[in-house]
Amino acid sequence: MMTPQEILEALEAENAQSLFVHARLVRDSVFGKEVFQRGVVEFSNNCRKNCHYCGLRCSNANLERFALTKDEILSAVNMAVECGLGTVVLQSGEDADLDPRFIGDTIECIKELTDIPVTLCLGDHDRDIYKYWRACGADRYLLKMETFDRELHARFRPGQSVAGRLSRLEMLCNLGYETGSGLITGLPGMTPEILAHDLYRLSELPLGMIAVGPFIPHPDTSLGRSRSGCVEESLRATALLRIMNQGVNIPATSALDALLPNGREQGLEAGANVVMPSVTPESVRYEYSIYPGKNSSAGTVPESVSNLQQRLKAAGYQPSSARGGSPDRAAKFKDI
Ligand code: SAH
Ligand code: SF4
Repeated sequence: MMTPQEILEALEAENAQSLFVHARLVRDSVFGKEVFQRGVVEFSNNCRKNCHYCGLRCSNANLERFALTKDEILSAVNMAVECGLGTVVLQSGEDADLDPRFIGDTIECIKELTDIPVTLCLGDHDRDIYKYWRACGADRYLLKMETFDRELHARFRPGQSVAGRLSRLEMLCNLGYETGSGLITGLPGMTPEILAHDLYRLSELPLGMIAVGPFIPHPDTSLGRSRSGCVEESLRATALLRIMNQGVNIPATSALDALLPNGREQGLEAGANVVMPSVTPESVRYEYSIYPGKNSSAGTVPESVSNLQQRLKAAGYQPSSARGGSPDRAAKFKDI
């Protein structure tokens, strides 16, 4: 494990080529050129929260709100399976009116349809609800810390705290979810020191998945005039995570793709081993605008997934339909 000081030096070094080479070597030794594919169903953009960075925040009135029906979600899941994606992720804002049974029923229907792993990315909920969804068959849960810096976290996630988010991650691990977390890099005020510390803290946790992507300002939020996070910094963060967390699944995030035409390939070149294409129906995909450029690819879902698969092959990778689980890193949450 690197120290926070060593991480900081790698983030600030003049040249990152040796860092990327090292990260690729580690990735190749664990996963080869296989790239796991997760189909993301973004089924609702309703959100009770008001995170300052996110276009779905409740105070954004310039957004047409939508929520898919169970049948629409199931047909998106079918599409993901037909496109050869090995797992699905159900993602949404935190709908104030969400009935946990809606999610529970949907998970059970997916499991009847196919035995692929189901990942949830639905934000903060009570332990009973997480437990119920797990009993319905959910396998994995993604809950990003965004940052461990207490001041920044409280500033950008009004009413929320690092301790609260961490305690939920611990709950999820203890309920038997394969748990994922991650960061937004380059949030306004996030110094390299804060990022180094965040990468260190993430790497201490018993996670199966870690995602980092650059901050992208959304014009309809209070951070709309801020600068984007630096792509290179996010790639260095990805490489450092790979070096410190060898067997963990790390996506080449779509935020990279939103900032660079070949952002995902660059993420893979920095040691990532997962892609997460959207399989959200075309009719609502645009409204899931967490940040501009998300889901901007033209064409139908099968076309955009197939484009991505062609890109991966052209870059020397093998898009895989495997379930892509991560080796269990720890039976229980470490001291935090
Ligand atoms: N509501 C859930 C899941 C949906 S948001 C939650 O908040 O956990 C999914 C992720 O989008 C967040 O975890 C955050 O890391 C990312 N995100 C939101 N706004 C962003 C922005 N402007 N730039 C980059 N990533 C952003
Ligand atoms: Fe809602 Fe998640 Fe966006 Fe925060 S990041 S406003 S919880 S969708």
